[in-house]
Amino acid sequence: MKAGKDKVISLHYTLTVDGEKVESSLDRNEPLWVLLGHGQLIPGLEKALEEHEAGESLQVDVAPVDGYGERQDGQIQRVPKKYFQQAAKLKPGMTTVLALKEGGHRVVVVHKVGMSTVDVDLNHPMAGKSLHFDVNIIEVRDGSEEEIKHGHAHPPGAEAH
Ligand SMILES: [Zn+2]
Repeated sequence: MKAGKDKVISLHYTLTVDGEKVESSLDRNEPLWVLLGHGQLIPGLEKALEEHEAGESLQVDVAPVDGYGERQDGQIQRVPKKYFQQAAKLKPGMTTVLALKEGGHRVVVVHKVGMSTVDVDLNHPMAGKSLHFDVNIIEVRDGSEEEIKHGHAHPPGAEAH
């Protein structure tokens, strides 16, 4: 079966940026399960998987525009320390999670740490980066009606929700 919209794919991947390994599903010993065509993956990776089948290995290079976007100026924001869980430990260059006023969370990069505030860069940490993925496709199957309704894959053993 070929990968494409409304198919569920499971894969192992290793992401390398600037020659350094950033993350790998192999470290978690669990493949990534994705419902294709529902925005679960960055566009460049999703496109590269199309028409491929279980058992294939792919090397995928993704330009920033098809990844996490280009870096944008004017994305530095000054935030009171109380919005960070571990403000005392923050250092420039670190990635941390910011609780948003409107609810939810956002991954930000620490730009500068002041006395009572932290300047963060709201650009995604991977913005402006060219991404390299080593991918092994493990399984491709049809998405279930429920998965398509939810807009995500249900890995084996996932709890009902
Ligand atoms: Zn679901």
